[in-house]
Amino acid sequence: MKILVLNSGSSSLKFKLFMQKKLLASASGLIEQIGDEESSALLTFIDDLGNNKKLQLNSPIPDHRKAIKVMTVMLRESGMLTDLKELTGIGHRVVHGGESFQQPVRIDENVIAAIKKLIPLAPLHNPANLIGIEVAAEHAPRIPQVAVFDTAFHQSIPAHAYLYALPYYLYKKKKIRRYGFHGTSHAYVARQAAQYLDTPIEELNIITLHLGNGASAAAIQGGRCIDTSMGMTPLEGLVMGTRSGDIDPAILFYLARESGLGIDELDTLLNKKSGLKGICGDNDMRRICESAAQENRHAKFALNVFCYRLKKYIGSYMAALGGVDCIVFTGGIGENSGTVRWKCCLGMERLGISLDSRKNSLQQNDIREIQKKGSQISLLVIPTDEEYEIASQTLQVISDNNGAL
Ligand code: AMP
Repeated sequence: MKILVLNSGSSSLKFKLFMQKKLLASASGLIEQIGDEESSALLTFIDDLGNNKKLQLNSPIPDHRKAIKVMTVMLRESGMLTDLKELTGIGHRVVHGGESFQQPVRIDENVIAAIKKLIPLAPLHNPANLIGIEVAAEHAPRIPQVAVFDTAFHQSIPAHAYLYALPYYLYKKKKIRRYGFHGTSHAYVARQAAQYLDTPIEELNIITLHLGNGASAAAIQGGRCIDTSMGMTPLEGLVMGTRSGDIDPAILFYLARESGLGIDELDTLLNKKSGLKGICGDNDMRRICESAAQENRHAKFALNVFCYRLKKYIGSYMAALGGVDCIVFTGGIGENSGTVRWKCCLGMERLGISLDSRKNSLQQNDIREIQKKGSQISLLVIPTDEEYEIASQTLQVISDNNGAL
């Protein structure tokens, strides 16, 4: 049993190979700057003796076709995979599934056509994901391929949460609505939380906070997402590394009229120059926390704005869920920043949230709880594993299609 997970970006290819029924990760790689003179490929894997090994290549990789070839050669050299034909399946991360996909699906011509149709909703991501699908199919035509969508987990959110208060025809004709992203991560950590709490997920209300360079929150009732903070695009919601999250939309009209900014400049401003970076010039939360601790004024603003927005979302999802059993922190910031976790839980004791400062300050790579004894709400730190989730959903789709494997 071997499942390969591919995450194809416009100039990068991330991949991870999972083995055996338990889906143990055995090799993972990253090919960057595809199409550039300075492309690089790195594979890390564990050899037969259990040692961590690396293979590296620095030479121009002109396109994704070549990138898949390089990946295949590296996997062969590592001894992990002789030929793509050995694979049970390939799972692809696809960013936008719109309203067409509520579940992962086996890829065929119709699925490819539907992903193409959704390009206007994700003009940067879906084309790159499609290249990965097409090239993988060329190299391994008989191997089942599965698309796992970032948006699919959020398709259960009800109309009152996904409709914008805009003229209704914009939803009907243009599909302008909230979709949500990071779905594989939210789904994965929610399931892990239920397992950790030894309670069926159907009986739990969970808030999951995926806090990385991109950040989003989700309200999950009985295993189904009922609201999430990202919207039609990943720009809405929480403050992020370089994205503004929620703002008054009239700011855009103001900037267009007063400063003459065009559509592309506004796009860059909100997606690339805002968020933490916009406030303090840095989007690295670790450095921001260090600077804030040294009383750097802008770093303190950035940290405070980030945590206050987060706290507001936690409160609003507690209301949406009608009470919550567990809050999960994940992503680079959620897993590692005790400061952020502490600040966004501060003063929430009357709402049932009591964080234990000592447990919160411990660094540990495993799933752990950080609430005080007696806290009504469990606070969990859970490392996310989107590739594992994609591999597991891929295996599920293939088994459902073929009968038990
Ligand atoms: P991700 O996009 O999930 O890889 O997360 C990236 C973010 O996690 C960056 O803002 C990093 O600064 C942040 N991060 C990683 N480690 C730490 C840490 N120990 N403390 C604070 N932030 C961290």
